Amino acid sequence: MQAIMKIKEEKGFEIRETPEPAIRHSNEVKLKVDVASICGTDHHMWVYDQWAQKRLPPTIPFIAGHEAGLEVVDIGPDVKNLQIGDKVSMECHEACGTCYQCRSDRMHICSNTKIFGVDRDGIFADYVVIPELNAVKNDNNLDPAIASLQDPLGNAVHTILPKDNVEDIAGKNILITGAGPIGLMAIPVVKMLGAGQVFVTAGGNNLLRLETAKKLGADMVLNAREEGDKIPKIIKDATDGVGVDVLLEMSGNIYALRHGLEALTYGGRVSLLGFFPGSIEFDINSLMISKGAAVYGIAGRRMFQTWQVMKGLLKSKDLQNKLKNNIITHRVNMSDWEKGMIEIHEKRAIKVVMDPFK
Ligand code: NAD
Ligand code: ZN
Repeated sequence: MQAIMKIKEEKGFEIRETPEPAIRHSNEVKLKVDVASICGTDHHMWVYDQWAQKRLPPTIPFIAGHEAGLEVVDIGPDVKNLQIGDKVSMECHEACGTCYQCRSDRMHICSNTKIFGVDRDGIFADYVVIPELNAVKNDNNLDPAIASLQDPLGNAVHTILPKDNVEDIAGKNILITGAGPIGLMAIPVVKMLGAGQVFVTAGGNNLLRLETAKKLGADMVLNAREEGDKIPKIIKDATDGVGVDVLLEMSGNIYALRHGLEALTYGGRVSLLGFFPGSIEFDINSLMISKGAAVYGIAGRRMFQTWQVMKGLLKSKDLQNKLKNNIITHRVNMSDWEKGMIEIHEKRAIKVVMDPFK
């Protein structure tokens, strides 16, 4: 089969002929890739930035990609709940099942996590073989392009509902810092869950993202470059001086975090999804401790509570249409993956989805 692979310890991916994977363990399923989607992580790996240089060498060469809509084409003898023909998405974190975290219902922070498309062969290919546990069944009529978005949508849902408690959102004022694909997807989700006012801050260099945040239903979109340090006051003025109840940090930018914490009300909740480029400095005494803020670090998607919530949310055609019409900005064939990657690199794309090799 053909696959988009990381071959060398330098910038780039290459299309290579590689053997079609076969089931080797009785609990595995073989999946055909219907649609693949390009993630920020794939972009980091392609650029071969500092993170990639540290993380990737032990597994090179490997097949990249981990966001996909797939179909079951073969099952091992011990597979229990999937059948040939089922449509699935992939949870890209493979948990060990036996460590302290896995044995205490926290598989998403397994201390031995391996990631498909990073530590294991991924889905930028015709086929992939994974454990049944990592294949999450979709409604058979769900558009595979939407199915491919469930990995980042799941990040958004986990950040929004770290404990599955919808009361944390209903009627609450929310600030989303960062209007990347994940921050943007969070907007229609918090709206569906009954949020009060939804504020979004976005990096000022990307007008498409600012406009998309408005289209997706944000009540106020603030351009971080233009509004800068005025952001907390603008948000407080719009909330009777109270500030927001919930901060969903989805940028990994220190200014966004500081502004977000300043705009947070006393006793508010913070979910931190964005990865910062390195160590950060902020006034933790006044911005977190004295505020009595509840802070959650968010890793991946809860396995598999987040997927179950997401499946319910995706029953909404309105949510599906919002994702399809606003988040997916480009569609290319896998053989033209480089065109898609350049659209992401040049910040013209929000999400690029890819159809299987011609
Ligand atoms: P992204 O990098 O496309 O989005 C981040 C956005 O933040 C960009 O649009 C950028 O313009 C914006 N931004 C920059 N400075 C800002 C500022 N001062 N104020 C407001 N916005 C600002 O990334 P994404 O794919 O949407 O992911 C969001 C973040 O989550 C990234 O940091 C990513 O690394 C991280 N992430 C974490 C996990 C996890 O498991 N914790 C999983 C996936 C992604
Ligand atoms: Zn584990």
